[in-house]
Amino acid sequence: MARVIAIANQKGGVGKTTTAVNLSACLAASEQRTLVIDCDPQANTTSSMGFSRDPARRTLYQALILNEPVERVAIDAKIDRLDIIPSDKNLVGAAVELVSMDNREYRLKEAIRPILEKYSFVIIDCPPSLDLLTMNALAAADSILIPIQCEYLAIEGVSELLDTHMRIRRTINPQLEIEGVLLTMYDDRTTLSKQVAADLRSFFGNQIFESVIPRNVRLAEAPSHGMPVIFYDINSRGAESYMQLAQEVIVNAKKRLGTGTERPDPGSGSPAPAASAAAAGAGDVRSSGGSRTSLGPEPSTE
Ligand code: ATP
Ligand code: MG
Repeated sequence: MARVIAIANQKGGVGKTTTAVNLSACLAASEQRTLVIDCDPQANTTSSMGFSRDPARRTLYQALILNEPVERVAIDAKIDRLDIIPSDKNLVGAAVELVSMDNREYRLKEAIRPILEKYSFVIIDCPPSLDLLTMNALAAADSILIPIQCEYLAIEGVSELLDTHMRIRRTINPQLEIEGVLLTMYDDRTTLSKQVAADLRSFFGNQIFESVIPRNVRLAEAPSHGMPVIFYDINSRGAESYMQLAQEVIVNAKKRLGTGTERPDPGSGSPAPAASAAAAGAGDVRSSGGSRTSLGPEPSTE
């Protein structure tokens, strides 16, 4: 049964889409059957995967609003073991049309249920808002992966994010865990990045992924070539960091399976008090034992 991970942060431009595209591709390259769902009308995940605009192509809109079977909407992403449910700008209409529909927060959850058996991971890219599309993603997800850009004001959005997570758990999805907080666009040459990363680590403790995504020009270039970075420049720091993240996600999923319903072992490092409080409130603790070095098999680059 797939683990469904929503990539979400209300703040725009923090690396949600970059993470959805590259984590999905790296999971697939690591032998995991993966589905990426583009839940954002901006359709950046769809275009970053090399799908140019095509009004004839079915999108998430058909599955969410017109009840088309999801099997007919999910297509081969032209990468081994990776499928995609694309988006396009019609999805803006979906956010509005959902308002008056029955079961309006649970339509994505219902739609993907029949195909969860086919995959090990389902990754959902969310829009930068808390609209009904994001609600559908968070209702369908087992966990939320929160990218945070290492910049001034990053900390400010954190309590808002935790509030949102708590609200979702109280309302539409009591089981929603925190998969992890991902530091993105990290620049080790600047004191600011280092300071922000240190502050976030002391706040979130072991809920932060060990893998850190550096600011890397290859990650910014790859979407215009319509490919995830591992196919654009496998030797880039961007490719390496997303492969590491994929390994962490896989290791944590295995630990979860091994321990039944229990949370993964938080490891020996004790979390900072603030992080403990946040984790207690959020009801989730992530593992700090993810592998950083064991990259998966070389992906095919054809
Ligand atoms: P939105 O909220 O609009 O959906 P987002 O959170 O999905 O945005 P992205 O689209 O992933 O953010 O990233 C914003 C911009 O930053 C893009 O131009 C992307 O190519 C670039 N970018 C993302 N991550 C990195 C990185 N690690 N290094 C360099 N550029 C990056
Ligand atoms: Mg995006």
